Amino acid sequence: MLNHASRRGLLFLYIVLFMIPAPLYAATGNGVPEVRVKVFHDVSTLRIEGHDVRLIDTYRNLYIFKNRGISSLVVSVANNGISVNNAVYPARMVTLVFSDGMVRINGKLLRGHLEIANENNRDLIVVNAINLESYVAGLVNAEMPHNWPIEALEAQAVVARTYALWQKDRHLDQYYDMENGVMDQVYKGVDSENNRGWAAVNATRGQIITYDGKPILAMYHSICGGETENSEDAIGYKYPYLRAVTCNFCRFAPHYFWKYTLGFRTLAYRMIAKGYNLSEVDGFSILKRSRTQRVMTARVVTNKGLIDLDGVTLRGIIGFDRLRSTLFWIKVSGNTIFFHGRGFGHGVGMCQWGAYGMAKKGSTYRQIIHYYYQHVHIERLY
Ligand SMILES: [Zn+2]
Repeated sequence: MLNHASRRGLLFLYIVLFMIPAPLYAATGNGVPEVRVKVFHDVSTLRIEGHDVRLIDTYRNLYIFKNRGISSLVVSVANNGISVNNAVYPARMVTLVFSDGMVRINGKLLRGHLEIANENNRDLIVVNAINLESYVAGLVNAEMPHNWPIEALEAQAVVARTYALWQKDRHLDQYYDMENGVMDQVYKGVDSENNRGWAAVNATRGQIITYDGKPILAMYHSICGGETENSEDAIGYKYPYLRAVTCNFCRFAPHYFWKYTLGFRTLAYRMIAKGYNLSEVDGFSILKRSRTQRVMTARVVTNKGLIDLDGVTLRGIIGFDRLRSTLFWIKVSGNTIFFHGRGFGHGVGMCQWGAYGMAKKGSTYRQIIHYYYQHVHIERLY
């Protein structure tokens, strides 16, 4: 009986996760679209703190936890269910309801609609459905220092809003739109909001960047190092609005120039850790550069033969914070590689330090956006 019930539950979960397409730009009450962000994953335990917290079995629509006043509870993964303060319930997914508009989960303050799901009997995921303006307000300060010029923050707000809608369009058949990892924008919750972030969001409310009437892939990065990159050379796909442009505005960014020194033994160790078959590195050279001089292919001579790596893979092996961009040159001396480079990040789309530099010189957020994205329009969606 339990087996039958849990199988039915799994089927239901499957249907919810994969079959029901969310409507395009599902609007919340005030016309603002909602985005679904996976705020926690790979966690087995969640501490939830809030007022009047209730947990509802999402499928059966039954309360499994209800408390008035201040609550602090522990939700953890259980076999075919979840446990709440050590009591196990056969619910694969629960909806979290609370008063005061906000709740804290594992220290992160969140608002909006929250669901907790048993993903695979080992881990829980938490999905936060939040209105796009609140999401962007949380992002602006996570992505840019709040004391930057307001025009730079406004450009970031429009870019972040556009990027979120682009992601949403591509996840229509999925349970959530945003991963909240390094591949997507990093949402840190309500704690990262402040007045200046909200001012930038409100001044640009509903505005997005479009090409051909659709939201663009509004890529951005920290420091381009003098010239942004053509999308096809960085991500293998040519977007007409992601073209290389000269940028003289980020030159005064800290770490505009960088250096890194790496021994062959350390490189061998880092490659082995990523699963490459070798035990020794004997040489390193650059094979191919993009039109903006970024490294597209590097060759590693190993005791098991030659291994050619693209620039992004090489950064992943060495570390994105160590090899800060693919705009670098090398000198090999003995068993050591001396890297010297410029910029930080992939170099595609808006250069954030460039946006700072342009705003300091009096550019508006519209001028900043039109500088880094070509042939685009800024439209008000709502
Ligand atoms: Zn730049």
